[in-house]
Amino acid sequence: MSKSLPKQTRVVIIGGGIVGCSVAYHLTKIGWKDVVLVERKTIASGTTWAAAGLVTQLRQNRQMTNLVKYATELYASLEAETGVATGYVTTGAIAVCQTEARHREWLRLTTMANNFGIDLYEIPLKEAQDMVPGMSLKDLKSAFYIPKDGQTNPEDTAQSMAKGARIGGATIFENIKVTDIDIKNGVICGVKTDQGDIACEYVVNCAGMWGRDIGKMAKISVPLHAAEHMHAVTMPIPGLKKVFPSVRDFDEYTYFKSEHGGLLLGGFEPVAKPWGKKGIPDNFQNTQLQEDWDQFEIFMNCAFKRFPDIENAQIRHLEVVPESFTPDTAFMIGEAPLIKNMFLACGMNSVGIASAAGVGRAVAQWMDQGYTDEDLWPVDVKRYFPWQQNTNYVHDRVVESVGVLYHKHYPNRQKTTARPVILSPVHDRLEKMGACFSQIAGWERADWFAPKGVEAKHVYDWERPNWFEYQKAEHKAIREGVGMYDLTSMGKFIVQGKDAKETLQNLCSNNIDVPLGKVVYTPMLNERGGFELDVTVTQTAKNHYFIITAAGTVIHDLDYMLRKIGPNKHVNITDVTHGYAMLAVMGPKSRDLLSKLTDEDLSNKAFPFATAKEIDIGYARPLALRMSYVGELGWELYVPTNFACRMFDVIVETGKEFDLKLVGMQAVNSLRMETGFRHWESDITPDETPYEAGLEFGVKLNIGDFIGRDVLIAQKKNGLKQKLVMFTLDDPQPMLYTNETVWRNSERVGDITSGAYGFMVGSAVGMAYISKPDKTMIDNEWIMEGRYEIEVEGKKIPAKVHIKSPYDPDNKRLKM
Ligand SMILES: Cc1cc2nc3c(=O)[nH]c(=O)nc-3n(C[C@H](O)[C@H](O)[C@H](O)COP(=O)(O)OP(=O)(O)OC[C@H]3O[C@@H](n4cnc5c(N)ncnc54)[C@H](O)[C@@H]3O)c2cc1C
Repeated sequence: MSKSLPKQTRVVIIGGGIVGCSVAYHLTKIGWKDVVLVERKTIASGTTWAAAGLVTQLRQNRQMTNLVKYATELYASLEAETGVATGYVTTGAIAVCQTEARHREWLRLTTMANNFGIDLYEIPLKEAQDMVPGMSLKDLKSAFYIPKDGQTNPEDTAQSMAKGARIGGATIFENIKVTDIDIKNGVICGVKTDQGDIACEYVVNCAGMWGRDIGKMAKISVPLHAAEHMHAVTMPIPGLKKVFPSVRDFDEYTYFKSEHGGLLLGGFEPVAKPWGKKGIPDNFQNTQLQEDWDQFEIFMNCAFKRFPDIENAQIRHLEVVPESFTPDTAFMIGEAPLIKNMFLACGMNSVGIASAAGVGRAVAQWMDQGYTDEDLWPVDVKRYFPWQQNTNYVHDRVVESVGVLYHKHYPNRQKTTARPVILSPVHDRLEKMGACFSQIAGWERADWFAPKGVEAKHVYDWERPNWFEYQKAEHKAIREGVGMYDLTSMGKFIVQGKDAKETLQNLCSNNIDVPLGKVVYTPMLNERGGFELDVTVTQTAKNHYFIITAAGTVIHDLDYMLRKIGPNKHVNITDVTHGYAMLAVMGPKSRDLLSKLTDEDLSNKAFPFATAKEIDIGYARPLALRMSYVGELGWELYVPTNFACRMFDVIVETGKEFDLKLVGMQAVNSLRMETGFRHWESDITPDETPYEAGLEFGVKLNIGDFIGRDVLIAQKKNGLKQKLVMFTLDDPQPMLYTNETVWRNSERVGDITSGAYGFMVGSAVGMAYISKPDKTMIDNEWIMEGRYEIEVEGKKIPAKVHIKSPYDPDNKRLKM
């Protein structure tokens, strides 16, 4: 602390909680010099000091799990390196299930954990009780055990990483507040503090629940909001062991851990209490909020049941401290969209202690090499949109975000708060016609349609949910007749300028130098050959392109393209997502229906697959793309938003003659699965190449250079270590969703990236990358000669492997 604030450094880390300390530690580990951490008060005095310190490895996806896995190694070994003990102990953890539904969730989670390399298995209840004497088995159906979970002392762990960072050359300044961030031409160039300015090349926002305020300084969206988070500690309870595995009773939202011979109990209540909407007091430091026993009652009730001896124990204290939560209960890390060298690592959703080690390492790597070894899209800040910084939105959503951690994580489960946000122009029409809505990227989308007399409400299940039969009817309408869905939420860009073609061709692996009106499916790859974007590109005029992407990736995609435009290029990219609605009319009768509404010749010859034209529909002039994500003849109609309602009405009216059915996203998903259409984020990610994904038709190596081409050339020459294939189950009953294990000749070879029911093939359908256990090259022969099973809820279900899609493998229906 004797050092004075430098005028210049390479990186300023804002915030000395456990996350900031970890980023500083890991930057120095990889050799960065000139690392400065600035903390407004003292190390760990924000939220870190208050944490229970549970290090729970299994998280909602592989990436987040891997981040915590690393913490169990680092925290156990840090003292030897820094001389500061972390207090880390491997205690193990037990999850108890009160209900059949929860038990089935944990059977699925066991499969998922084992896929992720986490040891997790069911144990007899008696064994759980032997490990945790004093725990009541009353009402319990089952228990699951994770032997390698641990507990750490949060403040000591932060201090230990801070010490490690100092040893590595970082400088840590306490009692200095960052007041502003300097950005010039979209690039970080410094910070202002209450004790002087520091010029720098990088800023990392590790400010926990202050992260939103720091975001405002940089004019970036940091959607998080604090909620009161609490735990109580009892005096010693006779009969309890000094150290025992932590116990989580998800059905009653409560966790327990040993604490000096007593219990520490806290949890994740389904209706949380937002805190700090109007700002965080300047003097906040190791601050505790007012005790709220009413809010804590839900956990006490669980405690009376699970640890009855607590009845006679004295409560030492109830600690209430705010922690930040995000709209999707996953934290945000990575480089902010459109601002070079502005990094974030905040919004930790009460897993910041467990995740800090991995987050710090990942952010340091991201800053150093421009990407992380494992793609981190589920926690990438670029999944958020500017509108999500709306304070009312994050405030209203945080009420729900806390409890999500202990929800039953049913497939397709929807959040219910802070809705609706974005409505398609035809929303009211869809609602009147029975739509049950789901939400993505703020958009309300019809998920499925309830027939007359049926309530449009999701009832979730591990097997067939309540909408299964309605989805089937919608699915079949598109396969056998005609259906229409509203996908106004699709991301849309216009790319134009005299260098537009050249710029796009450098990004696209497919040839986009094609005649006007030709629609090209193309990946845009990163330097490692992995998918960054998965889009269609249509040249509508010379050097004027219309690009369609997914609803949830607009900010990521825009950021990626803009960063790749070379200097002095004459090219503009405009996000026109909200300017155009999209109605898709799909199915073998779509041509007949639309021909009644337009004089345009829609025959295969005049309007072939993968072409686009502006056509008349009623009085509107949509751009009609003959493309399909559902594997059928059909047209996607893109029309300026204000024309959408009338266009919808005329299609519905004329559609009566053809039994036109409105179709929701559930059916769109099952249709795309059955015909093998990949979904960016689950089936294709920045970690997989088009060859591995079986999308070689999106690659033309002979068009000259494009990003990722060298990797593809090498892969073509050397072969593949993994390949995406499809599976259908021999048993028509079980459902596939994601993360089910693929067994080949009794060896684990992959896991399902996405699944749905294939109504035409009569069983669940799943996609998976499979690879040999020894990671040597694979080929179709090896794939086809295997005997496959897919593990669902602990049972191995025989399955058939398909190199192409199980339904219409040659995509003939698209080209009818
Ligand atoms: C009751 C409770 C129990 C918990 N239990 C667990 C658990 O068992 N396991 C687990 O993994 N997690 C747990 N957590 C969550 C965990 O504590 C947090 O996720 C974690 O501490 C967040 O760390 P952080 O570094 O992001 O934030 P913080 O620790 O809040 O650090 C942010 C720092 O930024 C500083 N700062 C802000 N603005 C500025 C500025 N302008 N200039 C300079 N500095 C600034 C602040 O002073 C603060 O010190 C718990 C939290 C609570 C409240």
